[in-house]
Amino acid sequence: MRTTIIAGNWKMFKNLRETTDLLSQLVAAVPELPSNLISVVCPPFTSLQAAASALKGSAFNLGAQNMSEHDEGAFTGEIAGTMLKALGCEYVILGHSERRQYFGETSELVNQKAKKALSLGLRPIVCVGETLQEREAGITGQVVTTQVKGSLLGFGPQEMANVIIAYEPVWAIGTGRVATPQQAQEVHQTIRKQIAQLYDWALAERIVIQYGGSVKPDNATDILTQNDVDGALVGGACLKADSFAAIIRAAKP
Ligand code: PEP
Repeated sequence: MRTTIIAGNWKMFKNLRETTDLLSQLVAAVPELPSNLISVVCPPFTSLQAAASALKGSAFNLGAQNMSEHDEGAFTGEIAGTMLKALGCEYVILGHSERRQYFGETSELVNQKAKKALSLGLRPIVCVGETLQEREAGITGQVVTTQVKGSLLGFGPQEMANVIIAYEPVWAIGTGRVATPQQAQEVHQTIRKQIAQLYDWALAERIVIQYGGSVKPDNATDILTQNDVDGALVGGACLKADSFAAIIRAAKP
């Protein structure tokens, strides 16, 4: 059975005080998780240290929302993967559509960052997804498989075992417009088939493919019960302990 991963992307929300408040509520609401269910919280960089303390001894893992492809150096404003590791991060979101859209991140750059993350023992959550225009033009499969191929270029099977893919249709992020369970399943299946073609079926069956895009407590079960959906990357609904906890509960086998 595949692992299910529910990750919360806090984006640019929550100061230090709000971080500790939210996490103390979340830890109280979800005191434990079954062994095949992982939950990750990804606060802003400025909250990582406080989050690491608040999550100590809890069922939650810590992740970041981005990292540099470089080890260190004169890169003003950037954060190195080693810095994230030192703070207790185990996961890092890479190539989120907001980074691709507003900060010009390409699959080539995502590939470099993911390579660096894996070399440091951080599990990358690699985001892919089509725009509304691309969906309406009927090229969703082509767009997503091109992003998957470019973002994971050159990875061996051992590296792939630690990669998580998040399918996030751009038109569903932060819009309240969720993909139907069938739309999600269709793209997830396409990605899994692509992984089987690039590697083999054993690896494709194991790889975690999350769905992201307006996942809420009331639509989580329908999406998370699709065959090829192995969890969710949650934005807005992870900013409140009760709604994130409800999504985690919806994922429980
Ligand atoms: C996200 O930020 O990755 C996301 C899916 O956001 P939302 O759940 O708010 O659509």
